[in-house]
Amino acid sequence: MSLAFHLALPLFFPYLVHTMTKKNLKGLNLTELQVFVEELGEKKYRAAQLYGWLYAKAAQSFDEMTDISKDFRQVLSQISCISNLQLVTQSISTDSTIKYLFKLNDDLAIESVLIPSTKKSPEEENRLTLCVSTQVGCPLDCKFCATGTMGFMRNLTAGEIVDQVIQVQRNSQKRITNLVYMGMGEPMLNYENVMKSIDIINDDHGLNIGARHITISTAGYADKIRQLADEERPVKLALSLHSLDNDKRTKLMPITKKFSVDELIKALEYYYHKTRRRPTFEYILFDGFNDTAADVRSFIKLSRRIPCKVNLIPFHSISFMLPSSIGASLKPTPAPRIEAFADALRKSDITVMVRGSSGQDINAACGQLAVIESKTKLKIAEGLL
Ligand code: SAH
Repeated sequence: MSLAFHLALPLFFPYLVHTMTKKNLKGLNLTELQVFVEELGEKKYRAAQLYGWLYAKAAQSFDEMTDISKDFRQVLSQISCISNLQLVTQSISTDSTIKYLFKLNDDLAIESVLIPSTKKSPEEENRLTLCVSTQVGCPLDCKFCATGTMGFMRNLTAGEIVDQVIQVQRNSQKRITNLVYMGMGEPMLNYENVMKSIDIINDDHGLNIGARHITISTAGYADKIRQLADEERPVKLALSLHSLDNDKRTKLMPITKKFSVDELIKALEYYYHKTRRRPTFEYILFDGFNDTAADVRSFIKLSRRIPCKVNLIPFHSISFMLPSSIGASLKPTPAPRIEAFADALRKSDITVMVRGSSGQDINAACGQLAVIESKTKLKIAEGLL
């Protein structure tokens, strides 16, 4: 179909054009854009142009695409659109962490968190990490997690995941150097869209964030861990472990009924042997529950099987979500005992980091993301309630 035909379309069939749902281009990869432009009778290079504008140059509308002819831009805006997340509010922590609340097209909402580096070394000073969401809510119901208490609404599209990076870069006027898939949701339950977003974000012609600066965190999908190992995306992998005891882990994380601790360890062993990349184990320390000498010993045994890194995380309160059952009784291990746990692991040559609690004052720390009845919260944020 020719350009002239598309330009004439609204003249002869205004009703038709009006009722057609416009194709959202944000989230399409280069191959999909090539198919799209070729269907319009355009040359393939147009796709690369669009791709550059959408991702590298973060265009919010076709008007910004100044090296594309006006005629073609007009056709594009008749049949397609660039869907942008709407920034509703941003909360700034005393430690400079920023939490963004975004509205999606269907009026649901998600949060993303921008975390500046707290390290003073020159190479780390410029590190700026964005924590992105992959789902609206989460179906996994981990007992210690705020997102888990809000239930599950839907998966995010690849475009909505990529757009969190684009909008935060635009808003902060800073380049994001590191990305963690640790916001709302379970990335492995939205595997295709997550991987597609990573490909666009990682591509030098896209957002150009190095694969080794991207981490996916999972609550424990052994099958997807194996799939990731078989694919060629050298991103980093983190497992939210929290206990090596199957019964205790099941109490904290019901997903353990589907994939046992043993299956997870086997999947991670496979991952390490296939990729030679050390996975990270994330471990929230709960007072008297998973912080004993026996827990240290189990960890040391594990590290002999799988070369790994360990991130110890202080338990951040989610009392604002009124958790029930075991979630209401969990208490954080006091800081000196977290340090002692870390030291005991270090003595066995395990690489251990004790994660900070950036953004706790604005409920933006690990596990605190939640948009309860997201439409209500949006109305409050917009001053309508
Ligand atoms: N579903 C994925 C990613 C989201 S959770 C996963 O489970 O890994 C991101 C990280 O925050 C996980 O390591 C999770 O265990 C941790 N987390 C959840 N709730 C927390 C809380 N209340 N305090 C500290 N960390 C928490």
